[in-house]
Amino acid sequence: MTFTGAAHCGHGAAATTRRRFLGWMGAGVAGAAGLPQLSGCGDAEAADTPVDPTQIVMDGHVHVTNRIYWEGIDPWQANVGGGGWDFARARAGGVNCIIENIGTYGYWNYDYTPKQSLRLLDTLLNYATANADKMAIALTPADARRIIASNRMAVFVGCESGFDHEGDLLVLDALYKLGLRSVQFATQTGFNAFADSAAAPLQGGQAPVFYGGLNDNGRKLVAKMNDLGILIDLTHGTPQTMAQLIAASRAPVVASHEVVKSVSGTTGITDDLIQAIAAKGGLVGIHGTGISKRYAQWAAANPAIAAAENSLITAMVGYQPSFPRLPGDHGEYIARFDSEFQARWRALTTFREDPSAANFIPTADEWAEHVKYVIDLVGADHVALGLDLAPGRTSVLPNATHYTDLIAALGRVTTADNIRKISGENYMRVFSQVQAT
Ligand SMILES: [Zn+2]
Ligand SMILES: [Zn+2]
Repeated sequence: MTFTGAAHCGHGAAATTRRRFLGWMGAGVAGAAGLPQLSGCGDAEAADTPVDPTQIVMDGHVHVTNRIYWEGIDPWQANVGGGGWDFARARAGGVNCIIENIGTYGYWNYDYTPKQSLRLLDTLLNYATANADKMAIALTPADARRIIASNRMAVFVGCESGFDHEGDLLVLDALYKLGLRSVQFATQTGFNAFADSAAAPLQGGQAPVFYGGLNDNGRKLVAKMNDLGILIDLTHGTPQTMAQLIAASRAPVVASHEVVKSVSGTTGITDDLIQAIAAKGGLVGIHGTGISKRYAQWAAANPAIAAAENSLITAMVGYQPSFPRLPGDHGEYIARFDSEFQARWRALTTFREDPSAANFIPTADEWAEHVKYVIDLVGADHVALGLDLAPGRTSVLPNATHYTDLIAALGRVTTADNIRKISGENYMRVFSQVQAT
């Protein structure tokens, strides 16, 4: 796939990237002052701007490992193209820190989820080693600051959709030793043995309420995550699950990729949960998809097209094998399982926006409305970026170079100090508290 974005500027010299990054941060201030916005490519360079390597520009909910594993791409190469997130374009857009979420979607079986966690984690660690000149795994906020100061991308490792659906404490302990520092508690694929998931209907139509939130095993997991210093991510839990996680955790928690219901008017996290997260010292990351009232109204008026737009993603996260595992299996089952799932992942890259939806794609200013709402509700210490860019759907960003647009939009609704918090310092504070608790 070819694209006409800023890929050619995604692999410039380090100094160029730093200048671009600073120009990018200046975009927020310029936006606030009504000055022209900077774009994410060459014209964003501000060669005379002083370098500030301490500035963190962080997306707290990224998916790139699955792309390496299933698509076979090299996301530091500038010719990746298409939708979704990659290092080259995000770096060109000023990003220097992420929480990467290995995603075990589809590997819902109790036996296969830890297997898939290990495969994906190994993929990420090998990739980080092979690209050590451009990135490194961060285990602590201090690590992240050192990596950023060396002009590389700092990568915290997280997990979405489950590391082990039985929640084995020793499995968690082992994954922690491999670098896992953030875990999304509820699955995106229907069920686990410790908490309800709001996304349960995606897995064969399961009901979202089974335990009424957490069960006893879930509470043990919360305590273990607190003991280890693993960040607890609430997203995809039912409201009950979220409320109980906030109450049970000794440390701050986050909801990493959320739409604010009071702004969207339809779906999203409620004010009372945002207030409870803030009271605990945590934060809410604002999602990049489906966030505007205009898009929701368009979807309500065009349900068939809207469903078709989501069909590739729902087919992927809701994958169930079309065949049983037979007695005497010696690997045939998982080979076929992998093949079927890979086809569903790769289908995401065929996504094309329906022309009738194009005018309703959320704008950067509509995204910033959610941030502003959270600031007004609980303060600027409790909101961050969590775009969840993935192939297969529309996002506020045409591609990952356009983080610049979001910072410019923030500059129109809040102060430069608050932008520093929202773009990274809030996550650093939360990680510090989680690891000190
Ligand atoms: Zn998610
Ligand atoms: Zn996600």
